[in-house]
Amino acid sequence: KKYVYYFGDGKAEGTGQMKDLLGGKGAGLAEMTNLGIPVPSGFTITTEACREYFRLGKKFPQGMWEEVLRNLKMVEKSMGCKFGDAKNPLLVSVRSGAKFSMPGMMDTVLNLGLNDETLKGLINKTKNERFAYDTYRRFITMFGSIVTDIDRKKFEDLLDEVKNKKGVNLDTELDTKDLKALVEKYKKLYKKETGKDFPSDPYEQLKMAIKAVFDSWYGDRAVTYRRLHGIPDDLGTACNIVAMVFGNMGENSGTGVGFTRDPSTGEKRFFAEFLPNAQGEDVVAGIRTPLKIEELKKRMPRIYSQLEKICNKLERHYKDMLDIEFTIQEGKLYMLQTRVGKRTARAAIKIAVDMVKEKLIDKKTALLRIEPEQLNQLLHPTIDPKAEVKVIAKGLPASPGAAVGKVVFSAQDAEEWAEKGEKVILVRNETSPEDIGGMAVAQGILTARGGMTSHAAVVGRGMGKCCVVGCGAINIHEEEKYFTVGDITVREGDFITLNGTTGEVILGQAPLVMPSLPEEFYTIMKWAEKFSKLQVRANADTPKDARVARDFGAVGIGLCRTEHMFFDPERIKAFREMILSDSVEQRRKALEKIKPYQKEDFIGIFKEMKGLPVTVRLLDPPLHEFLPKTDEEIEVLSKEMGVSVKKIKSKIKTLEEFNPMLGHRGCRLGITYPEVYEMQVKAIMEAACELARKKIKVIPEIMIPLVAHVNELKIMKDLTVKTAEEVMKQYKVKIDYKVGTMIELARAAITADQIAEEAEFFSFGTNDLTQSVYGLSRDDAGKFLPFYIDHKIIEEDPFISIDTEGVGQIMEIAVKKGRRTNKNLKLGICGEHGGDPKSIEFCHKIGLNYVSCSPYRVPVAKLAAAHAKL
Ligand code: PEP
Ligand code: MG
Repeated sequence: KKYVYYFGDGKAEGTGQMKDLLGGKGAGLAEMTNLGIPVPSGFTITTEACREYFRLGKKFPQGMWEEVLRNLKMVEKSMGCKFGDAKNPLLVSVRSGAKFSMPGMMDTVLNLGLNDETLKGLINKTKNERFAYDTYRRFITMFGSIVTDIDRKKFEDLLDEVKNKKGVNLDTELDTKDLKALVEKYKKLYKKETGKDFPSDPYEQLKMAIKAVFDSWYGDRAVTYRRLHGIPDDLGTACNIVAMVFGNMGENSGTGVGFTRDPSTGEKRFFAEFLPNAQGEDVVAGIRTPLKIEELKKRMPRIYSQLEKICNKLERHYKDMLDIEFTIQEGKLYMLQTRVGKRTARAAIKIAVDMVKEKLIDKKTALLRIEPEQLNQLLHPTIDPKAEVKVIAKGLPASPGAAVGKVVFSAQDAEEWAEKGEKVILVRNETSPEDIGGMAVAQGILTARGGMTSHAAVVGRGMGKCCVVGCGAINIHEEEKYFTVGDITVREGDFITLNGTTGEVILGQAPLVMPSLPEEFYTIMKWAEKFSKLQVRANADTPKDARVARDFGAVGIGLCRTEHMFFDPERIKAFREMILSDSVEQRRKALEKIKPYQKEDFIGIFKEMKGLPVTVRLLDPPLHEFLPKTDEEIEVLSKEMGVSVKKIKSKIKTLEEFNPMLGHRGCRLGITYPEVYEMQVKAIMEAACELARKKIKVIPEIMIPLVAHVNELKIMKDLTVKTAEEVMKQYKVKIDYKVGTMIELARAAITADQIAEEAEFFSFGTNDLTQSVYGLSRDDAGKFLPFYIDHKIIEEDPFISIDTEGVGQIMEIAVKKGRRTNKNLKLGICGEHGGDPKSIEFCHKIGLNYVSCSPYRVPVAKLAAAHAKL
């Protein structure tokens, strides 16, 4: 069994294709080596070794260590130095690297191989005693905190102590003597914390570090990240051991990170930052704020142009935007890493469209490059440009959009406040992977330190969350929970607004507006439509929502819930009058008052949809939902209507249901109170006829909810057709209308062949269908579903993603049976699942004609529909 893959001197045993085995980082290093890009020599221990390690109860698989030693010899030969050598020592980095990039989640140890002996060699080699001791103390810190879990802060406290005593601010102001003393302190700390001496044998160090990399796969942070990103737990991580090169060997050295294109806007320009005389961790940890890459161009033009050429080569090879890490050691450039770069949705879209224009990729690839959910970011609000705002500070614009919220100073507080329904902005000096949970629930993130590639920036962008970093003007007192800017103090709970596009920090709550979409967005939507089979409609109940839906390219309304129209104060009055009526006549009178409102709504919606089909669902919820709940409200109603409190209360009592979701609702209302549906059909058809007379095309689709038995549909259809014909006769126009039903009960699905004979279309109401097939109450499942999901009893919340094995099978049965008796049956879905990419893929698979989702999800659904087909 081969557990180790070598790379160096222009040749690698692995390739870029071998991500499963070598992890993203390892595969990238191999590929870059093979491309002739300068990479320090090293080797990758496979993910298979990691899985074996866990299978064997945390033991290296047989032969792995011997392979490591053999490969280490090859690295020694290539770099011309020796591991553990007192004269010319080889030092290595040990880094994790899983198949999927998990920024900041896994552990890295740099400068491994240092001990009191090899330190002499390093001094001898570099003629720089200060640098050597600085390297040594960094190594002990990393090794101590990562491999043996000593709290990193304890090392930092010792460092601060030395700095304070000396009265200096920066690490770079410490001299050799200070660092030497610090090394001794660190070793003591290590012994105190672990009960053992700091390991001086480099091979022992290496063994421990490899184990730590493997172990970090099941570290809390990694597990959380995987859960948030849906990455399986059983992949394991590879371990990369690479010869160290030093970016901190003077002013002709340095280190940097960057992207081949701008990861925020997608603009085609080399986008990077670098720090002279520094090691990589300084940049990533955001300890020092890095310089713009233009500075490198000034200082080392030859290196800059070499970097640019490498970026071009990488892009042409990978046909994608990449992120890179590089180090310059005494004027020689080394690439340390490359992988497909994370980007905002805006950038993803622009890069995809640009790369099609550049003929790097085709349209299908371009579509597949954009994650449907990512589009949500584009639909994020921005600050109203007309608003007067008080800008109190400016940081780096790390992730675009705007966010308003109450300030909190810890990830934990963010989670607790968000739990209570508060919108919060997480403000920290810098973030670390432990903060992920808090970042996920915050509206936005603000940090005082770090650059565009700091943890907060990378994670914020990935989450599509407004984020401002490196805002040095603010002084944060995390413990005391306030920050100051000049003479302004902002305390926990105070409102601020962030502008992630400009980096501005604004006092108070600024008004937000929805963004304008970049031109490339429409290009992508056009391509998506071209490549998909499923059509996308929207769920919309108002003309305004209808307009949003159409602007986003919805090809119709798949669900207009008419009950939402009754809650306006004027209308609810009439509606309650209807409910409280004792006779049909009284009810009809009350309904007559409501009809003009409904008609007006339909006219508005039909007009907005400009001849596209509009599915209107007749009244669905149980009547008690429209009646007041508190005594006060009942009293007001009693006065308003001149009906006694007693009578209202007794009516409420009779309407009370033990299980209202299975009670007197949907078509059961229509059957027992036909005048209600009759009024609604009249309103729909009158609206349609009035517009038709003005030569405005309207396609109403009248939808009967909660049908379980074909006879229910028959009765309701007869009523609908009779009413519709009467209206058309009266207006002397013909409207192309349809009558169909929702499929949201198991019985309806199973008897779909019978129902299809009466219906022109089915729309799966997967909210109710999930409820009735799964026997889960939509309203009560929250009490135990999270537990089920946490304990992996079920994979996913079936109200978010269709339960394909259960509910999905029933849908499939309904599709087959329905089409068997009605070839022309049109099939759609209008439950919340209609906007969920995974469910959309399923809907495509079972052959639905369309999905319908909330207006702002239309773009997501359109792209998901294309992905389903591609
Ligand atoms: C459904 O049940 O999926 C549906 C769309 O209807 P509602 O959510 O209004 O019950
Ligand atoms: Mg329903």
